[in-house]
Amino acid sequence: NSFLELNLSRPLVRACEALGYEKPTPIQAACIPLALTGRDICGSAVTGSGKTAAFALPLLERLLFRPKRIPAIRVLILTPTRELAVQVHSMIEKLAQFTDVRCCLIVGGLSSKVQEVSLRSHPDIVVATPGRMIDHLHNTHSVGLEDLAILILDEADRLLELGFANEVQELVRLCPRKRQTMLFSATMTEEVNELVKLSLVNPVRLSA
Ligand code: AMP
Repeated sequence: NSFLELNLSRPLVRACEALGYEKPTPIQAACIPLALTGRDICGSAVTGSGKTAAFALPLLERLLFRPKRIPAIRVLILTPTRELAVQVHSMIEKLAQFTDVRCCLIVGGLSSKVQEVSLRSHPDIVVATPGRMIDHLHNTHSVGLEDLAILILDEADRLLELGFANEVQELVRLCPRKRQTMLFSATMTEEVNELVKLSLVNPVRLSA
């Protein structure tokens, strides 16, 4: 079982090789083919399982075949903390290194002005913490979510534990109804399941 057999395009397979990945991890082998069909996915997966590439590779693949370059955000990835956002952003930059897909980081603690400029340049992917993302949507008006195709909720249990339920719900409401959503969580609590009901449609459940 290899990345090529998962029907990923050459630039993405090359990136996996450059990163030294020999074969997909179990969550990647399960998630990537399903995600490529556009299904919503609810994955219980911890850090270390390879979950970041499990959602990043299929979303990059789908962006490679976007009809033409739409000047709008196509993918939003929400993470609970700045540290995780930095890690996810860096992983996506590495996986996208042989493509023209652009990814931008929107987190608290960094210059809002600089972020506004990068949002106005229409990146394809935004990796964000919820508070700062809402700030840009409501206050700087530097970005809209009208053309969003894919929403990722990473570490959903921690998003809720850290008190971001309202922000996440608000962001989900601002996304188009017709989209693909993937949610990952280390634990599947009652609250996480509520969020699954609110934000996913007929999801496939995976665990690693
Ligand atoms: P994650 O669970 O996404 O935080 O990833 C944990 C670590 O596993 C990261 O350092 C990844 O670079 C690495 N990794 C992800 N996928 C693979 C793979 N298929 N083979 C080897 N390492 C991987």
